Amino acid sequence: MPFCPECKAEYTAAVSICVDCQVALVPKSLPADTVRYVDWEVIQEIPNEFVGNLIKGVLEGEGVDAVVRPYEITALAGIRLESEWGEVLVHADQAEAAKTMVQDYLANLSADDVENGDTDSEDA
Ligand SMILES: [Zn+2]
Repeated sequence: MPFCPECKAEYTAAVSICVDCQVALVPKSLPADTVRYVDWEVIQEIPNEFVGNLIKGVLEGEGVDAVVRPYEITALAGIRLESEWGEVLVHADQAEAAKTMVQDYLANLSADDVENGDTDSEDA
């Protein structure tokens, strides 16, 4: 049975919106912690947990709550991209600002990698 993520009321399968809260109902079969992500938006796909935690740290340093979510949870819904490890989510109302922060951060990170990469390849 679907239920309301706000007031936790259960409804029959025919109902899709809570009459009290006017929010979309959540299927009860989903893992409990997925409910937390109802109002969250994916802003960045990540190749591994390390990069995810780096981005999370950058965002939280800017005052944006971020969550690193591995694809194991998403895979339950039949969606999985082999080339990606997971994704970073933020509150939907902070998504645009967060995307800009992450893009700026990744641009700087790439520039550092190029410089370090040149040095490493000469050593090797
Ligand atoms: Zn409700």
